[in-house]
Amino acid sequence: MLTVEEALGEILSRVTVLESESVDVGAALGRVLAEPVVSRREIPPWPNSSMDGYAIRAGDTLAGPARVRIAGRIAAGTLPSRPLEAGETFRIFTGAPLPDGADAVVPQEDVEVDGDHVRVPGSVPEGAFVRSRGEDVRRGDHVLSPGQPLGPAEIGLLATLGHSPVRIHRRPRVAILSTGNELADLGTEPGPGQIPNTNTYSLMAQANEAGAVPSNLGIAPDRLEAIEERLRWGREADVLISSAGVSVGELDLVREALTRSGAKLHLWLVSMRPGKPITFGSLGRQLVFGLPGNPVSAMVTFELFVRPALLRMGGRTVVERPRLRACARSPMANPGQRRGYLRVRLRRNGDGFEAELTGDQGSAILRSMTLADGLAVVPGDTTIPAGGMVDVILLRGLDLVG
Ligand code: AMP
Ligand code: MG
Repeated sequence: MLTVEEALGEILSRVTVLESESVDVGAALGRVLAEPVVSRREIPPWPNSSMDGYAIRAGDTLAGPARVRIAGRIAAGTLPSRPLEAGETFRIFTGAPLPDGADAVVPQEDVEVDGDHVRVPGSVPEGAFVRSRGEDVRRGDHVLSPGQPLGPAEIGLLATLGHSPVRIHRRPRVAILSTGNELADLGTEPGPGQIPNTNTYSLMAQANEAGAVPSNLGIAPDRLEAIEERLRWGREADVLISSAGVSVGELDLVREALTRSGAKLHLWLVSMRPGKPITFGSLGRQLVFGLPGNPVSAMVTFELFVRPALLRMGGRTVVERPRLRACARSPMANPGQRRGYLRVRLRRNGDGFEAELTGDQGSAILRSMTLADGLAVVPGDTTIPAGGMVDVILLRGLDLVG
């Protein structure tokens, strides 16, 4: 039996990072940078005022209060008409370039205006309220590295640098197949003996969330040819994910269909609960995952194995979810040798967090996934007592935690 880490290591060792493409910076949110970004600009490009006020020569105020003559005016977007001379000031506005000769700004609320003169009440240090050239970014600075996910701040920085279009990684294409005679798809009312198809939709959503572009191969009945046909439909995808039909029942045909289609497969018993054996392999350049059918097992195995693979393909260097330590509100039992990934709800408590099981941990109890903020990782044959500390893999942002 493999540990989760061993299985993930095997999977990641077979992942190749996808090629890059160019997009406008305005369309790059959430994508992953595929090139180093080196600034070709100085930001700010010239010294400028950080306040509405008066540009002065700090030297004029060395001896304390000073009276200087208003000799010009510089609004943002205009240039000073000439350098500032000793004994002079220019009216200046936020973002306007500092005139040559000036080395400080006095905010307008700190001075007294007297006709065409200004009284500065005390000595002003050099550089006061001046944003110096290149204080944010110097030309040649290495500002962003490949693998960086682009959030609003990175988008803003790229725009500031005029770095558009930007090279990002292509999103992985993921084809998703559900299998099972018992499945009734969305839009049809399940008949006798049928159950609604859950996995197609939860897995497509998870793939989307992991930055991939999912496509729906629908439901294959438990017949080899039917499964093989749909595998052919999905051949263009970078990754194929099927759910169900991977156990050892006589209707569990996914592995055989994959093998007959030319896939090289590994079946792994992974020491985890929930989650039965998972199937992983390659079909030409495509990676294939055969996930278990129970909706929670499908989601949790996606989370632990498929998500990191998709993130890595999409160029991300960090593929792990964040974890935190939380205090168990009631005992968390994990009987049996396999490591438990237990659905928990988190609550803030002072500076820390408390974790509580979402209830029944059955692998078909999907509602518990909607309640879960994270997965508590409990070693085999272990009960975390109430008040004990447990590691929790965060499934969603802490802003959603009460
Ligand atoms: P199997 O691995 O085919 O034995 O499926 C395990 C369990 O998962 C069975 O109870 C199936 O009915 C259920 N199941 C399989 N596929 C889906 C699906 N797409 N949506 C919801 N439940 C499913
Ligand atoms: Mg089945």
